[in-house]
Amino acid sequence: FYYMTIRVRFAPSPTGHLHIGGLRTALFNYLFAKKEGGTFILRIEDTDEERSTQESVDAIYQGLMWAGLTWDEGPMPDGGIKGNFPPYYQAQRADIGIYKKYIDQLLAEGKAYKCYCTPEELEDMRQKAHAEHRPPRYPGKCRNLTKEQQAELEAQGRKYVIRFKMPSEGETVFNDLIRGEVKFANRDLYDLVIQKTSGYPTYNFACVIDDHLMEMTHIIRGDDHISNTPAQIQMYRALGWKEPIFAHLSMIHGPDGTKLSKRHGDTSVMEYKKQGFLPEAMINYLALLGWSTPDSQQLFAPGELERKFDIKGCQKSPAVFDTVKLMWMNGDYIRQLTPKELLKRAKPFIEEAGVAKGVDEERLEQIVALEQEKYKTLREIPGLISFFFTDEVKFDEEAVNKVFKAEMAKKALELMIEKYGALEDFTEHSLEQTARAAAKEAGLKAGQIFHPVRVAVSGRTNGPTLFKMLEYMGKDMVLKRMKAALAYC
Ligand code: GLU
Repeated sequence: FYYMTIRVRFAPSPTGHLHIGGLRTALFNYLFAKKEGGTFILRIEDTDEERSTQESVDAIYQGLMWAGLTWDEGPMPDGGIKGNFPPYYQAQRADIGIYKKYIDQLLAEGKAYKCYCTPEELEDMRQKAHAEHRPPRYPGKCRNLTKEQQAELEAQGRKYVIRFKMPSEGETVFNDLIRGEVKFANRDLYDLVIQKTSGYPTYNFACVIDDHLMEMTHIIRGDDHISNTPAQIQMYRALGWKEPIFAHLSMIHGPDGTKLSKRHGDTSVMEYKKQGFLPEAMINYLALLGWSTPDSQQLFAPGELERKFDIKGCQKSPAVFDTVKLMWMNGDYIRQLTPKELLKRAKPFIEEAGVAKGVDEERLEQIVALEQEKYKTLREIPGLISFFFTDEVKFDEEAVNKVFKAEMAKKALELMIEKYGALEDFTEHSLEQTARAAAKEAGLKAGQIFHPVRVAVSGRTNGPTLFKMLEYMGKDMVLKRMKAALAYC
């Protein structure tokens, strides 16, 4: 097939947070559109009146915007609309009768029918099917009701749904871009509900109508929808429409091989933001969940995914969500930031932790950059820099026992209080020279000086490179802390 313009959509149901799986689906649609010069559309599938909330819609906007997945068409967070196929909320489309028109058409053509079965009757049918080891699908009880029978049921005040007449023989076959030829036996399809008693359409129906009316060329969605596809294809055909091309993305599993759940880190996308992940790291990671380049490239420069994404690189088998790899990748992206950018990203975390209040930008930037190679998330930064700004050092007990209780620790600190007290040029290089010279003079190993000094000023045995750290702390603080530390030796 050759399409002038590729059109794809992300069509979430706003019934909860935007999760990792949803963001991955959105990403693959986005990348496919970018790669092919197509259009990426957002459509809100809010036909579930009870579970859909504006809060969830906002979470979808927020998550997509945080991840940088801007949509070319769809509703906008400010209430505006972009694109020529509005409205983009299905509830609004239902309200203006878009689905009703096609329901009426199918009814008139005898391709759909009113079903008056009550929930209790349906439950009985399910139980009977279960007892007889038949699949629990609707047996078509109301399929052939006469006009009179219908009128009678309506006179009793019975409510109805509309069901679609599925074929029960033959096969529905489609060519999935990822899975190749997929076949479903039509006897496994059933007369599904396309309009609820409320008059609202169901997902399967609204989805078909909108994908057609909004001129989607490709439907890229999770594998959990693959069993809906034959039913949807039958509806396209009943309406006389050509179906789009389908691509079903492999599921995401946890490391234990079961479907991704909360326990594996499948929380809301915004939770990852809160945990200090960079959106670009997250996107890079998610792109590799079920997709790869022929040479298994791991890290992508800005804009590279958009150029290299190829749906042929999508795998059929489930992808495994691996938090360790995500952390590693996030660390890598953090290392690539300029100090200025790093501070900008870290700032909200530092402020939230109430660390470094009133410290000037330049100094804070230097301090934050000190351990840049080690950060895995932005969120750990305040805890790692806080010792620069506190009045009193909080000593790590182990560090105290190991380093301060060592022979010569006290002598080393006293010596350095004297040497650094007399030092004019309190900068990295001369701080190191002075410490080394002092060690030599006193017949100590360099470490016998360095370790106690480090613990005295920071409370920890590990941390940023020592002399830079001392320089950034400044003479007064260093001397004050070394003097205070004597009490622990
Ligand atoms: N509203 C459906 C969902 O959130 C969309 C399925 C589809 O992409 O067709 O799962």
